[in-house]
Amino acid sequence: MFQKSIELFNRAQQSIPGGVNSPVRAFKSVGGTPVFIKKAKGAYMFDEDGNRYIDYINSWGPMILGHAFEPVINAIREKAYDSTSFGTPTQLEIEMAELIKSMVPNVDLIRMVNSGTEACMSAIRLARGYTGRNKIIKFEGCYHGHADSFLVKAGSGMATLDIQHVPGITTGVSNDTLTAPYNDIEAVEKLIHGNREEVAAIIIEPVAGNMGCIPPAPGFLEALRYLCDSEKIVFIFDEVMTGFRLAPGGAQERLNIAADLVTYGKIIGAGMPVGAFGGKKEIMQHIAPLGNVYQAGTLSGNPIALIAGYTLLKVLKENPLIYNELEEKTNSLHQGMTRVFQEMGIDHTINRVGSMISIHFTKNPVINFATAAIANNEFFKKFFHAMLKRGIYLPPSAFETWFVGNALSTDDIHQTLDAANESLREIF
Ligand SMILES: *Cc1c(COP(=O)(O)O)cnc(C)c1O
Repeated sequence: MFQKSIELFNRAQQSIPGGVNSPVRAFKSVGGTPVFIKKAKGAYMFDEDGNRYIDYINSWGPMILGHAFEPVINAIREKAYDSTSFGTPTQLEIEMAELIKSMVPNVDLIRMVNSGTEACMSAIRLARGYTGRNKIIKFEGCYHGHADSFLVKAGSGMATLDIQHVPGITTGVSNDTLTAPYNDIEAVEKLIHGNREEVAAIIIEPVAGNMGCIPPAPGFLEALRYLCDSEKIVFIFDEVMTGFRLAPGGAQERLNIAADLVTYGKIIGAGMPVGAFGGKKEIMQHIAPLGNVYQAGTLSGNPIALIAGYTLLKVLKENPLIYNELEEKTNSLHQGMTRVFQEMGIDHTINRVGSMISIHFTKNPVINFATAAIANNEFFKKFFHAMLKRGIYLPPSAFETWFVGNALSTDDIHQTLDAANESLREIF
């Protein structure tokens, strides 16, 4: 069934570290050979052996309206004839900035970059430059990209590979990154009181997605907002995953909480390498060339990348019912999965916010990294492979959220639930 993928993986390892260009793709935590995808359309991916999969990663988010979405493909095609990059300002960059501002709250100024990592890295630099302080607070199990400051208790990728400490990151840098358990406001208060006037920023995934999906406890984000205000700390929402997914205005809109700075990636580029960070003018005006906090990019605001993201965001903005549909589909998956697992008597906890959902094989509530980490990952591995064999592509790690896309049909959901039922009968 996976003959070509096996051959390609062997070949890939001769010239690419571990055979992949991003670690989670290697299937290390679930074992076996990663599937090499050839093409995708709508809700389906097709691998090099010709197998079809119902896709629950959707390129880790961007394919929220399905693969090879025609308006995006057509826009890219048309734009490419005008050249793929200029290194000069373009009108499209203004239109993109205006479109984002019209969708998301609390953004006066926004800078485009090329990935979620770049967005978060730049937001942290800006917060440090703006406050004149060095330390940041992040949460255990939250991922903010692979910049040095963030690779401390960084969730999915590192957790999957069981990497505790990353060689190559200096003690100086990691000492400036303070960590607290997600949903634990007292731990944050302690950190702040122990580091008075040293904390530049608190960065958080407003709904965590890199230790599976973990919603913020009621009042948690509000309490952080209050702390940031009283201690003059920059509150950064990392909306790389939640942005344009939980609502047109992301988690800020859905949870009705204002961040000082916000970062985007994934959906914002419709599958092209795009990220962005933005926020209040008072802070953003410190970015070069307005201010001295230097940040730049040869390909930032690239026309092909931006036209893809612009086209997708415009569809999302003009069709807000998409969010209701996504909610309904993910909810029916949620209810269906609950039924299937209950019937089989399998300990599980399903967390869901909007179209972010994940299943942890534990009967305890999953509220932070520690409670996510004690789930039965051996069982997840078996479940993952049993589903893959049946044409259901789940994230290849128990620490990853499933990203539901709107190309998914009711029939696809039924097929998924049938596959889950069969899989459990096979492995339990
Ligand atoms: C994916 C992700 C990032 C990193 O984005 P890249 O584009 O992979 O660099 C940062 N933060 C969160 C919350 C993410 O999910």
